[in-house]
Amino acid sequence: MAAMSIPDRAVRPLLNRRLAEFGTTVFAEMSALAASTGSINLGQGFPDTDGPEEVREAAVRALRDGRGNQYPPGPGVPELRRAVSEHQRRRYGLAVDPDTEVLVTAGATEAIAAAMLALVEPGDEVVALEPYYDSYAACVAMAGGRRVPVTLRPHEGTFRLDLDELRDAVTDRTRLLLVNTPHNPTGTVLTREELAAVARLAVERDLLVVTDEVYEHLVFDDAEHVPLASFPGMRERTVTISSAGKTFSFTGWKVGWITGSPELVTAVRSAKQFLTYVSAGPFQYAVAEALALPDSYFDGLRAGLTAKRDLLTAGLEEAGFGVFRPSGTYFVTTDIRPLGESDGVAFCRELPKRAGVVAIPTAVFYDDREAGAPFVRFAFCKKDEVLREAATRLASLADRR
Ligand SMILES: *Cc1c(COP(=O)(O)O)cnc(C)c1O
Repeated sequence: MAAMSIPDRAVRPLLNRRLAEFGTTVFAEMSALAASTGSINLGQGFPDTDGPEEVREAAVRALRDGRGNQYPPGPGVPELRRAVSEHQRRRYGLAVDPDTEVLVTAGATEAIAAAMLALVEPGDEVVALEPYYDSYAACVAMAGGRRVPVTLRPHEGTFRLDLDELRDAVTDRTRLLLVNTPHNPTGTVLTREELAAVARLAVERDLLVVTDEVYEHLVFDDAEHVPLASFPGMRERTVTISSAGKTFSFTGWKVGWITGSPELVTAVRSAKQFLTYVSAGPFQYAVAEALALPDSYFDGLRAGLTAKRDLLTAGLEEAGFGVFRPSGTYFVTTDIRPLGESDGVAFCRELPKRAGVVAIPTAVFYDDREAGAPFVRFAFCKKDEVLREAATRLASLADRR
């Protein structure tokens, strides 16, 4: 039984069998609840401050200069493809041909959908880390695939991947591993050793790998993001997905991209061309400039989010939550059992009334609802004063215990 979303009775009878289990996403319900109760919305993960002014100006310039106002090239504008290639070289030492190994997409969301539609045969198994980002299950279903979860388990204050469980999840029907690091919603960043083991498994079992690395720049403390594509034998089997939304705080622009071998990029493009064909013309030029920002931008982003993480996690601890301190992303997952609660969905439906804050029950990202029941996710990509106010409001939960 999938629990990715809360089924919407009005729509459900019309939905085809593949999508019947996916109703309206939980974000819609929780955002509506935030609006109707005047709550602080720490549910959906979007920043409440726009990204760099010069990047916004670059988009305005492109619009005014008439760049990208008509259909841009199918693979994306050359400026952006070159910028993605240069970014992979500068950050990770990866050589990516901007003409054959980069494809610009309508956000990472379209990249995920196109990759699944292009690479998964009906009946193929797709092994993915659970809890899943909310579009994975639906995209695997749209491709006719079967998702096989490997659950990240709480261990010493973080969620960890059990490499034996991963190995056991792979069968002769497995086509593809769908990896996400830094991982939403747990904030786990897979270590170099874990990634090396994932890579060895993929090579040994001859699997394709789709790796969602949209939080590549949002890593904290001494955590390090290492692209899966950089491990031996991975270049030719890996589709790497990233996006401007999280890195530059322009989630509404929906500029994403994949990198991979020419064969993989061509395959994904075959599906992508019939989804949106192209998108976000002028924004593509702006993101090309954004990717070339100096290291100081990326360092500043990390420093700012580290402070926000610390602000919100301190408030959550004060309020009595169990806190899994994230090493990446802009989410923190909490355990509500120390508050005497056990059902995250019920808790999140009540929280706006009890404390004026909206969060997301992590159970909706699990097939195994039991495993996800006591966890609740908060986003910290918000202004410091908003996080402080949220912490103050949440403190009332501790008072009433
Ligand atoms: C936000 C997010 C996406 C979607 O990115 P867009 O570029 O906004 O489409 C994909 N994967 C994960 C894990 C995300 O958190």
